[in-house]
Amino acid sequence: MAESKIKSHGYAAHSATKPLAPFSFERRSPGEHDVVVEIEYCGVCHSDIHQARNEWGGSNYPMVPGHEIVGKVTAVGSAVKKFKVGDLAGVGVIVDSCRECASCKAGEEQYCEVGMVQTYNTPDKQGEMTYGGYSNNIVTHEDFVHSVSPKLNPAGVAPLLCAGITTYSPLRHWKVGKGQKVGVVGLGGLGHMALKFAHSFGAHVVQFTTSLSKTEDAKRLGADEVVLSKDPEAMKAHANSFDFILDTVSAPHDMNAYLALLKRDGTMAQVGLPDKQPTIEMGNLLFKRRTLSGSIIGGMAETQEMLDYCAEHNITADVEVIPIDKINEAFERVLKSDVKYRFVIDMKSLKQG
Ligand SMILES: [Zn+2]
Ligand SMILES: [Zn+2]
Repeated sequence: MAESKIKSHGYAAHSATKPLAPFSFERRSPGEHDVVVEIEYCGVCHSDIHQARNEWGGSNYPMVPGHEIVGKVTAVGSAVKKFKVGDLAGVGVIVDSCRECASCKAGEEQYCEVGMVQTYNTPDKQGEMTYGGYSNNIVTHEDFVHSVSPKLNPAGVAPLLCAGITTYSPLRHWKVGKGQKVGVVGLGGLGHMALKFAHSFGAHVVQFTTSLSKTEDAKRLGADEVVLSKDPEAMKAHANSFDFILDTVSAPHDMNAYLALLKRDGTMAQVGLPDKQPTIEMGNLLFKRRTLSGSIIGGMAETQEMLDYCAEHNITADVEVIPIDKINEAFERVLKSDVKYRFVIDMKSLKQG
């Protein structure tokens, strides 16, 4: 493979306060284990907005966001075994990890104890800043690239790389399945995938919502019941009855109301990261031996397992496809929850621009 760097272009945030704008840059010359993917679709994750606007601190500019990437392999290094030119491939939130710590060895690279290399806004092992999927191509070590089935609509596959695995992984970890009653809090990019997976795994699924106007859609996506979370009587009717609740909401909200709905030994797992720390009533945990836990994305093997499961069961995200010049508008609409249920950028629009 040629030693020269790869020319790339995309959209970048140049500061925390400016809109995203076109940006040209270079990616590393592909090594023997690298796969070059020409990006076809990239999902728009809420964390792209947090990082572009430096809401979590530590943002580096210019920043090319995007970690829900699907595209075609256009080149592979000499030692690459999993991919050939023309294959469909996906890249998610992680592009490298230490590979040696206990978490990496267990295939849980997302919990790498040295620190995972994220797809954008992180220095890689050579000290070069990573750039994400709001761009025409990406160079990634094959261990962090996933096979994507051509059976599925690639635009609907892109969000599986973050929203999909973020909900699939905890539902699998806590062994959600037939005979269980499972709650989903929040119906956005994450929540709508949680509904699809929990329903597909055979659980009785209850969607919690702040607006009953979402009832029909929740049922279409896999909910057996919909409960208005601000109605104390409706909530009380479900006290002590859930095996598992997945909370996808990152806005501040009362978690105690949900903990009280768990059975003895039930678990609630948090996948949204609230910017204000909640107050937990410990009695809610002690007297029923309940567990409050959390989870982020998933390991590389599990991400592939999830993509294969989706291909087999025909599961994709519900998406609204946009051209890249609408990205700043899309950010504003995500903040208003005005999307069903994920924006995905069609990267062909970048070539035309
Ligand atoms: Zn994400
Ligand atoms: Zn590690």
